[in-house]
Amino acid sequence: MMDMKKNWIFSLILILGCSFVYGQENYKDLSSADSARIYPGGGFYGVTQYDGQFSRKKAPKNVILMIGDGMGIAHVYAGMTANGGRLFLENFKSIGFAKTYSSDRYVTDSAAGGTALSAGEKTYNGAIGVDTAVESIVNIREMAEKKGKATGVVSTSAVTHATPASFVAHQPKRSMYEEIAADFLKTDLDVFIGGGYKHFNERKDGRNLINDLKKKGYQVLTDIDSIQLVRSGKLAGLTAPEHTGRVKERGDMLQKATRTALNILSKDKDGFFLMVEGSQIDWGGHQNDMSYVVEEMLDFDRAIGVALDFAARNKETLIVVTADHETGGLAVLNGDFEKGMVEGGFTTGDHTGVVVPVFAIGPGAERFTGFMQNTDIPNRIKKLMGK
Ligand code: MG
Ligand code: ZN
Repeated sequence: MMDMKKNWIFSLILILGCSFVYGQENYKDLSSADSARIYPGGGFYGVTQYDGQFSRKKAPKNVILMIGDGMGIAHVYAGMTANGGRLFLENFKSIGFAKTYSSDRYVTDSAAGGTALSAGEKTYNGAIGVDTAVESIVNIREMAEKKGKATGVVSTSAVTHATPASFVAHQPKRSMYEEIAADFLKTDLDVFIGGGYKHFNERKDGRNLINDLKKKGYQVLTDIDSIQLVRSGKLAGLTAPEHTGRVKERGDMLQKATRTALNILSKDKDGFFLMVEGSQIDWGGHQNDMSYVVEEMLDFDRAIGVALDFAARNKETLIVVTADHETGGLAVLNGDFEKGMVEGGFTTGDHTGVVVPVFAIGPGAERFTGFMQNTDIPNRIKKLMGK
């Protein structure tokens, strides 16, 4: 009762406040004064066009699944505007939309979204690789592993965070970081690069999983410049105690990590499966910070450029780029291709339920067009990989 009364009074104040503002007609000034809505422009990078360089073979030997966490169409177009109207993503000709709702919510979180994309089943928000009955479900990375392929996971968040965790672990809750870290030891994962060091060696159970990783034959490295020198063998690249920093701090870590993973995984004659996540597009959306969104979007696009460069030469690689959900309810309100300026407006500090784009290139790409369920993506990849 008290709350309702409070809400009513708050609404009245809001209505009075708004009519005052609209009466003054200075609401435009208020929004333009908010610098977080504007990415002023920060320089451009060149985008290679790979026309006709991708094989028409039906079955891909290798699959690279790239997830822009929180990446809706507005995030893509904001990035495109900021880079003078060009993105590596424009190379993709097979384009569709994925429905992202989870088993229990219209608006998914990254755990249910990640599990839908890894295991091909809708589950409850917070679930890591488990179904609605909290039973483990096999994900496409594990399937690839069983088929003798090399596998890898790359992210700019901790590797124990919801999206990468969904391709490795099976836990009832996304917040169980230490249990998720322990699940890495139960796999045959060849390469993983991202933050999350402390979930391996500062643990309540006292285990030192870094030592366990070394015993299993992993090269464990913490700085990206030594990580990128690795060409073969098993690699655990843990670049930060928790999450890797923003672009300003981490530099081109995601591109280097993607290239390193491809160098190692492509040595396997049976092929490989690699998941690469642009983890922090989502965080820019949560913070309603346009510069954060754009910097992360452009960084992710450059990692897509690294994957395209590999696939154009390899000719047996399918690349699928999508998102787990949209974040921020972002709209692109204004832009300038010459300056790279882009102005956005956010409608929420949370995720939204809108469909997300799906981009595919390489053998089998045409299967990823039109409207689809997020779960169709791994299920179609499974079929293309031969099951
Ligand atoms: Mg994520
Ligand atoms: Zn989020």
